Amino acid sequence: MEISITRTTSPRPKPEDPRKLGFGTVFTDHMFLMDYDPDQGWHDARIVPLENLSIHPGAAVFHYGAEVFEGLKAYLRDDGSVQMFRPRDNMERMRTSAERIQLPDFDAGFMLSAMVKLVELDQDWVPKVPSASLYIRPFEFCTDVDLGLHSIAHAQMIIILSPVGSYLGGGLKPVNIMIEDTDVRAVRGGTGYVKCGGNYAAANRAAARAEKKGYDQVLWLDGVHRKYIEEVGGMNVMFRMGGKVVTPKLTGSVLPGITRRSCIQLLRDKGIEVEERLISVDELMEALAAGQVEEAWGCGTAAVISPIGSFAYQDKQFVVHNRVIGPWAQDLYDTLTGIQWGRLPDPYGWIVPVPKP
Ligand SMILES: *Cc1c(COP(=O)(O)O)cnc(C)c1O
Repeated sequence: MEISITRTTSPRPKPEDPRKLGFGTVFTDHMFLMDYDPDQGWHDARIVPLENLSIHPGAAVFHYGAEVFEGLKAYLRDDGSVQMFRPRDNMERMRTSAERIQLPDFDAGFMLSAMVKLVELDQDWVPKVPSASLYIRPFEFCTDVDLGLHSIAHAQMIIILSPVGSYLGGGLKPVNIMIEDTDVRAVRGGTGYVKCGGNYAAANRAAARAEKKGYDQVLWLDGVHRKYIEEVGGMNVMFRMGGKVVTPKLTGSVLPGITRRSCIQLLRDKGIEVEERLISVDELMEALAAGQVEEAWGCGTAAVISPIGSFAYQDKQFVVHNRVIGPWAQDLYDTLTGIQWGRLPDPYGWIVPVPKP
């Protein structure tokens, strides 16, 4: 399928001070769209100036939440070229997400080429300051105008781009985590393993409660036993304990993070043992009380590595690694960001270059 391109005639000013960029509030000049209907399949692939959408208020996405998304980044290398990190993995995961919600499947290779084209066109928007990047947000949703509960027939796919600073503002400042014991994010058999908007809606209340009490993020326990550690906010979680790294296994309610997968590979290649297994909150509390949690961190595209400074659960509170980043988290951060920004070689084939315009 050809992608038609309509360039903007009124480019918007770039952010004045890219060091002050937040996350996902500034957008570039163009977006990609394509539409799906049962007769034509995916069609009308186009890059057009970014503008508001016009969607019927009866569209199912507004009522029943039929939406899936992805998040990845493009990075500016020192030589001025732009590259993406593992974009094909994101597109394959989005196909898995679409299947779970029963949104139409798509060609991952085509979507990858659409992302490359869009980033190529808007590459002046990749911020030229350290640790900033261009966030890529593909998403797919149901456009059927129908309040009945029917299978999905019409959908739209969009990609938007947003120059972003470092996700949590303070760079590698350790975050304080509240372990949530009331609400759950996901259950096995549900949608925890896919990136759909509804998962985040379900997380809002606990996140608001944690914020009100002064915590940065929520750590989720499994929805069945309220016992096993799953993930923190929008990140997977890892613990350094007893000279190994331990991380929750992918049970079906945990999101299979691409940063998680990359961390596991990097750690194993450095000769560090990584255990993917169930970790109960009791085991974590005992290990914290005994001083056996040497480091803890979250990992995800937005923050890359986010060291954890403390955990609170019910009436207990524990500090990890004196609230400063530990050496293993720092090393993972340096290696991952080194590959992402092209300052380190990429022996894994994770990088996809974006052509110069
Ligand atoms: C996106 C996401 C992650 C991290 O996945 P990455 O591919 O590493 O960005 C972790 N948990 C949740 C719930 C997510 O939505």
